[in-house]
Amino acid sequence: MTQDLAEFAAKNGVKYFMISFTDLFGYQRAKLVPAQAIADMQKDGAGFAGFATWLDLTPAHPDMLAVPDPSSVIQLPWKPEVAWLASNCVMEDAPVAQAPRNVLSRLIDEAAEEGLHVKTGVEAEFFLLTPEGDEISDPFDTAAKPCYDQQAVMRRYEVVREICDYMLELGWNPYQNDHEDANGQFEMNWDFDDVMKTADKHSFFKFMTKSVAEKHGFRATFMPKPIEGLTGNGCHAHISVWDEPGDKAKTNVFAGEGEGQTGEVGLSERGKHFLGGIMKHASALAAITNPTVNSYKRINAPRTTSGATWAPNTVTWTGNNRTHMVRVPGPGRFELRLPDGAANPYLLQAVIIAAGLSGIRSKADPGKRHDIDMYAEGHKVRGAPKLPLNMLDALRDYDRDKELKAAMGEDFSRAYLKMKREEWNSFVQHFSRWEREHTLDI
Ligand code: ADP
Ligand code: MG
Ligand code: MG
Ligand code: MG
Ligand code: MG
Repeated sequence: MTQDLAEFAAKNGVKYFMISFTDLFGYQRAKLVPAQAIADMQKDGAGFAGFATWLDLTPAHPDMLAVPDPSSVIQLPWKPEVAWLASNCVMEDAPVAQAPRNVLSRLIDEAAEEGLHVKTGVEAEFFLLTPEGDEISDPFDTAAKPCYDQQAVMRRYEVVREICDYMLELGWNPYQNDHEDANGQFEMNWDFDDVMKTADKHSFFKFMTKSVAEKHGFRATFMPKPIEGLTGNGCHAHISVWDEPGDKAKTNVFAGEGEGQTGEVGLSERGKHFLGGIMKHASALAAITNPTVNSYKRINAPRTTSGATWAPNTVTWTGNNRTHMVRVPGPGRFELRLPDGAANPYLLQAVIIAAGLSGIRSKADPGKRHDIDMYAEGHKVRGAPKLPLNMLDALRDYDRDKELKAAMGEDFSRAYLKMKREEWNSFVQHFSRWEREHTLDI
């Protein structure tokens, strides 16, 4: 039964609803709607001028309406009089084809038609910086190998605890929090869920983390490589596929024999084909999973001060080994280590399904499993494709991958490539210090 939002407001003391949608670049946009106006907005949506956001719309387009999905409602735990709602973008009674949440909805339906229900978990790493955003917030966080640093995580206990308490309250089943591999970097983990639920939680987690950090006088960033020389912000995705959605899920159709660590990897035939699709489309899907200029400072990066980047360089897969693009940590799931903190929560999941379905349909072979340290011995793997070296290469790879473009939707792909090419052009027109240093005295 659909949740009546006016009733929800009356029952829970909600004064304002935040009707929120995510644009192509991953920015969350919202209108604050007083509870007394929510009944109409629940039906018709809140109006936006699409051109004012990254959606490839013109100023002449009619109003875009963000129609809230009432099942996504979350009262802000740090401000319970406000409730957040993920919304679907609609124009003249039709879904806006390129809007990220619509792209994901369509792919979820396509997978369901084949009896596949994807569940995912994400690891959204972040840094806590000073409010200006140019250095880490904790001057004592200087260890050469800062991962799991007990003292440093306790110096940010108030922030980490507050976010984790909220996740507990929301029923997300958070289970661990730690200091990550870069100075100033943290990770907080909660349970995997149906793919749309994870995408909504991922969006909300970013909003919540930034809000709580601001409250404590810090700035949280998910930027892929915010500090030169330190490990970047990954956003690994763990993927399994089930026979039914939600609580009805009984059989993990990805689960096969074996441990995933030694011997036979723990993926079923369909699991291997899904993985085959990810491998086949990897360099193109990087345009979505690694969507910014800065993303390419994290992958293919020189060794960081901690000793390893923990990010992949090649399109290779393995068992429980963190030096490849895909790791199969145990039976029935795999981890895509490519995505970074700039990945759009909806497009990230959409492109995983698009590539995976293509793999299942074409019975794609993921290729040989490699059980080596890719950082130390990568040169020994002959023929392993390298990941794109920059955003433009990734966009070109995406443009060349007709199958992936079609699976993501032609309207989406056209809009995305156009907006991202414009962004690339704006980047290359920018004058950098590097150019001056390398060219001034030529
Ligand atoms: P690691 O750092 O070892 O890669 P984490 O514990 O940080 O792993 O994150 C693992 C993520 O994978 C969590 O979100 C977890 O809920 C999720 N996960 C675990 N099992 C599955 C599964 N079968 N399908 C999808 N996601 C899963
Ligand atoms: Mg106005
Ligand atoms: Mg982790
Ligand atoms: Mg991590
Ligand atoms: Mg991981």
